[in-house]
Amino acid sequence: MIEQVLSLLLNGERFFITTHVRPDGDALGSQVALGLFLKGLGKEVTMINSDPLPYNLFWLPGADEVEVFDGSLRQRERIGAADVIIIADTNALERLGKVAGPVENSTNTKLLIDHHTHPEKWFDVTYRRESASSTGELVYELIAAYDRNMITPEIATALYTAIMTDTGSFRYDSVTPTVHRTVADILELGDIRPAPIHISLYDTRSIHGLKLLSRALESVTLCYDGQVGYMVLSQRVVRESGASLDETEGFVNYVLSIEGVNAALLFTETDSGTKVSFRSKGNTFVHEWARAFGGGGHRNASGAYIRRPLDEVIREVLAVAPRFMDLKDTPPADEGVLSPEDEHYLSILMDRKTQESQ
Ligand code: 5GP
Ligand code: MN
Repeated sequence: MIEQVLSLLLNGERFFITTHVRPDGDALGSQVALGLFLKGLGKEVTMINSDPLPYNLFWLPGADEVEVFDGSLRQRERIGAADVIIIADTNALERLGKVAGPVENSTNTKLLIDHHTHPEKWFDVTYRRESASSTGELVYELIAAYDRNMITPEIATALYTAIMTDTGSFRYDSVTPTVHRTVADILELGDIRPAPIHISLYDTRSIHGLKLLSRALESVTLCYDGQVGYMVLSQRVVRESGASLDETEGFVNYVLSIEGVNAALLFTETDSGTKVSFRSKGNTFVHEWARAFGGGGHRNASGAYIRRPLDEVIREVLAVAPRFMDLKDTPPADEGVLSPEDEHYLSILMDRKTQESQ
């Protein structure tokens, strides 16, 4: 498999690289590392995404070469002219956002580099492994299989960012001795240090982002006897905080950190629907739960975007929890989820009602 992918990378001339909407550290780190590697091989590289960089990745060397799709003829022509289209860190056309159309229209070779479950069938060549910690780990394997010495400080920084962010700073189940060896190799070859990267990524919150975290923490509610927990961010709360939505990255992990909680959810209201983030511990898996609502992801970290109002989505997603996880001593769903004494939940509904009647 790796030989086929390498020969595609070595024989191609013009490359287009893209990744998913709301790109995270793994998405951008993998994209930029690949882009810089291919440029190092003398290739022509175009990188265009549907969404802009999140606030905490502006500093990433090479990320300034990633354009935001504007629908222009110039960009469409560049995508169409690529002899190889690389899709990194997602395997679903819909997750490419506005770039999905031009990618679908291209008749040239489509290469998938990814670690998500349930890949779609439209790729010509794939380099994927669900057990990989990150797409960044897979990109490292490809570069290392060709020539480890091509890992420059910039490529190393992008790869380290990718792997560190997708492993929750090296603490998830996907972290193996091999991941640590890979990271050691990246640090050594690129001659880079982890501390400044960590600071750039995680110590850059705005005061508004921190205030929003406090609102999110206030909203934490447990159900199913404390085995499921959730947070809610209504548009009103986000607006009042003055923070941007990409500052909510990582919020859901606070819910998962509660003892006894095996599945944690974050419901975020948007203009056109509700974004749900699913996280779980150990053998509780949430990807099928997210898939039931049109989303997907990994067994312990998934997401879905549902074009329905916040309160309906909260009720319906929680109501079906018993279908997707093993809930011990579970109270009946109607009691467990929508108990009248669940004042917090009701207050969120009331908030919405007041908003609607205004
Ligand atoms: P997050 O909750 O951080 O947005 O996403 C967690 C994981 O779920 C990521 O690996 C992401 O790729 C996946 N994911 C998030 N939203 C969606 C979605 O709408 N559709 C699919 N298929 N996967 C998603
Ligand atoms: Mn990833």
